[in-house]
Amino acid sequence: MAKKTTVSLEGAVKTDAGVTYKGVVLEPVVEKCEGCERIIPFEGENFCPTYAQPSRKWAHGVCNFATHVRAEVDKTGAVKVNPLKASKRAARGR
Ligand code: SF4
Repeated sequence: MAKKTTVSLEGAVKTDAGVTYKGVVLEPVVEKCEGCERIIPFEGENFCPTYAQPSRKWAHGVCNFATHVRAEVDKTGAVKVNPLKASKRAARGR
């Protein structure tokens, strides 16, 4: 089984604009991110190390980095957001 990498925001600095990490300002995650395994808590808020502005990531559809949901196009061509089951996540090695 793949070993889980622990990501931390060590060295991040909280500023008025958000949390600065390696020169990038991270904005807090949005409601739709809830359940995503990439979320990292930092000083009472949750951040995404993969995408600095989660709200923008979700503004035009489903976040393609999300580990908890996946976008699928149904027969009518409409985009559906499907929660990923834990077993499927495990099968993906996460
Ligand atoms: S990867 Fe996407 S869904 Fe997950 S926390 Fe980051 S922005 Fe949110």
